[in-house]
Amino acid sequence: MTDTVRYGTDLHILVVGGGIAGLTCAGLLEQRGFSPDVVEKTDSYGGLGYALGLWPAGSNILKGLGTYEAFASHADPMNTYTLLSDSGNELHSYDLRPLADEYGEAQLIWRPRLINVLRETVSDETIRMGTTVTDLHQHDDVVDVSFSDGTEDTYDVVVGADGIHSAVREMVFGEISLNYAGMTSWAFWVDEAMVERGVVKEHWGDGRFAGLYPTDDGLACFLAVTAPEGTPDPLDERKARIQKSFEGMGEFIPEVLDELETKDAEDIWHDDFYDLRMDEWTNSRVVLIGDAGHAPLPTAGVGASLAMEDAAVLTDELARTDSTRLDQALDHYVARRRKRVDEVQEKSRRLGTFALFDHSLLTAVRDQVVKFYSQERMENYFRDFLSSEI
Ligand SMILES: Cc1cc2nc3c(=O)[nH]c(=O)nc-3n(C[C@H](O)[C@H](O)[C@H](O)COP(=O)(O)OP(=O)(O)OC[C@H]3O[C@@H](n4cnc5c(N)ncnc54)[C@H](O)[C@@H]3O)c2cc1C
Repeated sequence: MTDTVRYGTDLHILVVGGGIAGLTCAGLLEQRGFSPDVVEKTDSYGGLGYALGLWPAGSNILKGLGTYEAFASHADPMNTYTLLSDSGNELHSYDLRPLADEYGEAQLIWRPRLINVLRETVSDETIRMGTTVTDLHQHDDVVDVSFSDGTEDTYDVVVGADGIHSAVREMVFGEISLNYAGMTSWAFWVDEAMVERGVVKEHWGDGRFAGLYPTDDGLACFLAVTAPEGTPDPLDERKARIQKSFEGMGEFIPEVLDELETKDAEDIWHDDFYDLRMDEWTNSRVVLIGDAGHAPLPTAGVGASLAMEDAAVLTDELARTDSTRLDQALDHYVARRRKRVDEVQEKSRRLGTFALFDHSLLTAVRDQVVKFYSQERMENYFRDFLSSEI
C-alpha cells in the first residue's frame, strides 16, 4: 500500500469471520462502495444450527441492506411467550404484540437461514471460505496479515468478527478467559404440531431449561442443564444423557423425549455455555465486533442483534474517516457501543442465573416471582433495549 492518505472507500479492510457480525459488516461496507476482504474458517455454510430470536434492532439493519423481505420470508414472529414450571404448570403467558406494535416484531429464524440471507449481501469475490488468519503484525498505522492459504496482505483495519473463540482476539489481546455459565445445551427439531406458530414456550426448571421455538423451517427444541465445566458429551451417550437430565419434567418434555429416540445423535447440536466480557475492543488498527468482543449468554436471545448493531455502527464510523484518523473512528465505535452492550450483558447474566436456578427452594421462589411478574413489567424489561439508540 502507498503512504498516501486513503479516504472512505479506498480504505483496505479485512473482516475475519463470515458469521452474523462479519457478513453484516461486509454487506454494509460493500453497499457503501468499500471493497473489504472477508475470510471464513469453515469450508461451507450449513450443517447443524439452532433457532435465533432477532429483535428489531438487528432486523432493521436488514431493511437498509435491502434483504429484509428475504429474511422475513424465512422468519416467524414471536407473538406469545409462555413460561412453564419444571413440572409443566403454566406460570405466565405474555403477549408480545404490544411491543411489536410499538417497535417492530421480534422474529425467530433458523441460524443457517439468517447466514444465507446475509451471505447474499456480500459478493463472491469478497469472501474466501476455508481460510483464516495465521499472523497479524501492526506497524506504522497498518496491519500486515498472513493467511492460512499462504497469502499475505496489508490492511488499514482488521475487524475481528470470528465469534466467541476468536483467534484475532487471542493474537492481539492475548488470552482472555471466557466465563463458563455452568450450563451445557442441545438443540434439535421436533414435531411442529407441539405448539402453534408464533408461540414460544419455555420450561424454567430445577437446574434445567427447555424451550420450543417455531420457525419457518420447523419447530426447534433447545435444552440446557447445569453441568460442571468440561463434562464430556460423547455421541454414543448423548441421547441417554438428555433423557436422564430431563426425566420427570412436565408438559411438552415427554413428547420431546419420545421424539429424541428417533433421532441420530449426530443430528443433535451441542455446546457448553460461555460468555465473554472484556475491557478493550480495539488495539490500534484491530477492532472486535460481535461475540469476539462481547458474547452474551445464549439464553438472553440478544447476541445476534448486538452483533449486527456493532457492524452497523462500525461501518458508519469507517465511512467517515481516513487512513490517518482510524484510531478516532474506532474510539467512536467503542464509545457508541459500550454502555448498551455492558447493560445487555449484565441483564443476560442475571436472567441466565434466574432461569437455571439449581436449587429446589430457589426454584420455588422464582416460580412465584414469575407468576406475579406482570405483562407491564415484562414490557418495561424489554423497553429499554428496544427504545435506546444503537
Ligand atoms: C444455542 C444458542 C442460541 C442462541 N440464541 C440466540 C437468540 O435467540 N438470539 C440472539 O440474538 N442470539 C442468540 N444466540 C447468540 C448468537 O448466536 C451469537 O451472539 C451470534 O451468532 C454472534 O455472531 P458473531 O458473528 O459474532 O459470531 P458467530 O455467529 O459465531 O460467527 C463467527 C464466524 O467466524 C468464523 N470463524 C471462527 N473462527 C475463525 C477464524 N479463526 N478465522 C476465520 N473465521 C472464523 C466462524 O466459522 C463463524 O462463521 C444463541 C447462541 C446459541 C449458542
